[in-house]
Amino acid sequence: MSKKLRVLFCSPEVEPYAKTGGLADVVGSLPVALSELNVDARIILPKYKCVKVEANKDLLEGKVLVYFVEDKKYFDRNYLYSTPEGDYPDNLERFAFFCQKSLKLIKEEKFRPDIIHCHDWQTALISVYLKTIYKQEPFFQHTETIFTIHNLAYQGLFEREKWDKSGLPKELFSINGLEYYGRINLMKGALLFSDLITTVSPTYSKEIQTKEFGFGLEGILKTRADKVFGIINGINYKIWDPAHDVEIPQNYDHETIDKKFINKQHLQIETNMDIGRDIPLIGAIGRLTDQKGWDLIAEVIDEICAKDLQLIILGTGEKKYHELMVEIAKKYPTKTSINLRFDPILAKKIYAGCDMFLMPSKFEPCGLGQLISYRYGTIPIARKTGGITDTVFDVTENQENGTGFLFKNYDSKELLNAIDKALVFYKDKKTWRKIQKRIMKLDYSWQYSAKQYLGLYKNLIKNLPQPLNVR
Ligand code: ADP
Repeated sequence: MSKKLRVLFCSPEVEPYAKTGGLADVVGSLPVALSELNVDARIILPKYKCVKVEANKDLLEGKVLVYFVEDKKYFDRNYLYSTPEGDYPDNLERFAFFCQKSLKLIKEEKFRPDIIHCHDWQTALISVYLKTIYKQEPFFQHTETIFTIHNLAYQGLFEREKWDKSGLPKELFSINGLEYYGRINLMKGALLFSDLITTVSPTYSKEIQTKEFGFGLEGILKTRADKVFGIINGINYKIWDPAHDVEIPQNYDHETIDKKFINKQHLQIETNMDIGRDIPLIGAIGRLTDQKGWDLIAEVIDEICAKDLQLIILGTGEKKYHELMVEIAKKYPTKTSINLRFDPILAKKIYAGCDMFLMPSKFEPCGLGQLISYRYGTIPIARKTGGITDTVFDVTENQENGTGFLFKNYDSKELLNAIDKALVFYKDKKTWRKIQKRIMKLDYSWQYSAKQYLGLYKNLIKNLPQPLNVR
């Protein structure tokens, strides 16, 4: 009988334990999907203050073993990486510790992975350690590494004075190592030392090899182009399920979609907006950072609010955007609802209650908002970039198969134009319903993408030197 493939997911965020964005959704659901494909998938993450180990035990469906790296000094804090004032100054130390401890812990547990699948800069040092200081370590001789870029904008950059904290020899602070314009760049290390690199959509995997999206690492990515793959994220169809969610006032599916408006009514009441079944309600949820296009919305907020529509925003992040949002809320108290916090329950009510979902991102590695919206029959209005390009198809260009409304350039006039296109279609109730039903029937569960990951894993293992059976 063939042995189960063993994969360790090493990640700074995992839903339902700790989440700031889409990375947590991915690492909270891909391992479960892989376990259904007979992979022994396990997860390791830091035990932050917010982590409730016992309460969440069943959420990974008992299929995936989760390890925690515990340390009061490093992880018993109110935030994951940064406070509203900025990043924690000891992030290099914290995540170097996490990487070292992860390797130590699985060795103690005698879990010898065929693959360690690392996610984002916080876990970048794992592959560097394995290829350098642990090169001779017998336990890891048959362990390959995959590094997934969820967002190239966050690279783990630190001042060179902190090099000692990395736990790496001095020689590695060089042009062929982790040195990057005089600073330390952890992501660069992962891109150089991992056996494979993946990112979360085919389009983004190409974009990051260009100057516009490469954030300075495009050169390295290009030299490793034959090892770079793009696999689109799925979403957890059990967590995002309008037919069964307990958090939304009214359950519905594509056959009972007429009931969706009850969620809209509740949302309008809960957020003190005017109540009206036919007022187009647009939602937007996301981190308040430059990436997500909030500045475009702010630029034309007067024009947006001059239209017959309502806008509900849920987000948290940078101070400048919080201030901007407060201004908008003051100016348009009945047409907008601005919610500046992290609130998964309100998020669900927005996906379920809105007619349209706005994503004017500057760049978007994959984007989960559009996929979650599909599930709830909420039609995306989005900028055609990265994962959006791979998953959203413009209704005006393709009436039969279109799934949303797109605009191309990062330009507020084009954003307005896309909103207008959506509003025109919204008036045509029959066509709108048809699009809603179409998007609700799409399948962006993990089934397909998990198989693609499995294919990559198997190829990587095939290339390993024999014997594989020495364990
Ligand atoms: P990113 O990973 O760049 O933040 P994604 O679109 O991939 O963006 O994923 C964002 C995820 O985080 C979605 O599940 C979204 O619903 C959730 N999310 C973002 N901001 C909030 C918030 N303020 N409250 C609740 N959920 C949020």
